[in-house]
Amino acid sequence: MRIIQVASEMAPIAKVGGLADVIMGLSRELVWQGHEVAVALPRYGVIDFSRLQFQGRVDNFQTYFGNEWHKAHAEHFLLDNSIRVALIDTDWGKWRSKPSIYGQAHDDVSSFLQFSKAVMDWILSLPQSIPDVIHIHDWQTAALAAYVHEAFSQNAHYPKPKVVLTLHNLEYQGRTGFSDLEWGGLNLSFNPEAVAAAKDPQYDCANLLKLGIALADEVTTVSPTYAKEILAPIGGKGLESVIASKGSCFHGILNGLDYSYWNPHIDPFLRQQYQPSDGVESVLNAKEKNREELYSLLGIQDVAKANRPLVSSVTRLVEQKGLHLIESVLENAERYDMDCIILGSAYDQATLDRFRHLDHALRTQKRGAVLLQNSEKIAHLIFAASDIFLVPSLFEPCGLTQIIALKYGTIPLVRRTGGLADTVVDVDYPIVSEYVREPNGFCFNDPDVGGIESALYRALKMYREGKDKWKGLIETAMNLDFSWYRSARQYLQLYKQQ
Ligand code: ADP
Repeated sequence: MRIIQVASEMAPIAKVGGLADVIMGLSRELVWQGHEVAVALPRYGVIDFSRLQFQGRVDNFQTYFGNEWHKAHAEHFLLDNSIRVALIDTDWGKWRSKPSIYGQAHDDVSSFLQFSKAVMDWILSLPQSIPDVIHIHDWQTAALAAYVHEAFSQNAHYPKPKVVLTLHNLEYQGRTGFSDLEWGGLNLSFNPEAVAAAKDPQYDCANLLKLGIALADEVTTVSPTYAKEILAPIGGKGLESVIASKGSCFHGILNGLDYSYWNPHIDPFLRQQYQPSDGVESVLNAKEKNREELYSLLGIQDVAKANRPLVSSVTRLVEQKGLHLIESVLENAERYDMDCIILGSAYDQATLDRFRHLDHALRTQKRGAVLLQNSEKIAHLIFAASDIFLVPSLFEPCGLTQIIALKYGTIPLVRRTGGLADTVVDVDYPIVSEYVREPNGFCFNDPDVGGIESALYRALKMYREGKDKWKGLIETAMNLDFSWYRSARQYLQLYKQQ
């Protein structure tokens, strides 16, 4: 099949969070399963070109937005010699000067609308290569469902590609004015269906994600439990009715993990690589070496010698991730006699201040650090070096970090919600899932300090007093299989479904 993924992120060339990992991992697996895959991304100024091989350009195709025609072009690359990547740009020219992938909310709406429109016009400029499937992701590219609808209902020459929309996080919906949709090139006076689809009754505005959900042929989200949660008002965040209206065209497909990248056996960022078949003692030795490397990079070498359990997290520091719960753990590092390391990306001053303060406290107590930056190397070392990995999210569509932690033999401690409930089964209170049949971590239900403390208490107790059980847990964790194989096949089934 010929498949185009259209997204705002892709690892490792343009990454903010899990969406980037998903676009990379799913695309790579689809290529391995014999399909032709291209990923269309905006031509950001911050693209990392080191792994892209240039293949050619499509110059000067025309694209219509802002009430006039614009020149646009696509630069074509191969990533790791297998996945085609098209970087799309227009003479509007805002992408290259943007200092980050996401920025001001309103600016982002117009930027992603003109990107989505340019992708549509790029596809139409290559009529011999109209794809079978256009797979769009989140609000940033959701308007493509409407562009495809408009373009192909007027164009009987080519079969309409199937549009699949994946919902990675309903927190972000792309709310905007209807005038922005017109600006984006949608002809609303002739398209009452798009107007009705986009109407957000709660905020009395247009909603790009709602538009995409209503007009896509299939809608998916990234775990079976989140799929159930978003059909209810709290999880659905105002979109529960339109999601429910999709009926059997709405599916929960668990994200996979790209083990050719996230794998301690071949991870180039580690001081010492390891794998479960070497035996658990050898795994623990390698984890120790990686811990020395991590502590020395963070300038806290002395702390490593204390040989305490290391509890960590790698996360965007936004309320969704349970910030007050992470804070409560860090504040109790001494009481629980543990080290803590957090690698976090913060987006506002108040959060930066909160976590800088915690960094200072941890360093003063010689019990760890908080690093407020985005660092792929340190992220990998944290997964490898830690004993317990925290994901105390208030809601979590899938969550990749607990799945990465498992592969690195680091035991997840999670709130039982969304994809966390599908991937982590508690040692003491096991509720097995479709994906995990035996205990592999620690869970708590209520998003309060009491909840996380009781799970942490149980985890630390097993770490200290039940060494053999702990080693067994590490073996179970590392041998679980969350590769993309199964999930990619589920996507393919949808792509092919008539
Ligand atoms: P989300 O997509 O909501 O941010 P996920 O758990 O699905 O959460 O994915 C997070 C991804 O982003 C993981 O690959 C994680 O390692 C990475 N990540 C998050 N914060 C940072 C950071 N500060 N530095 C490096 N990588 C990070």
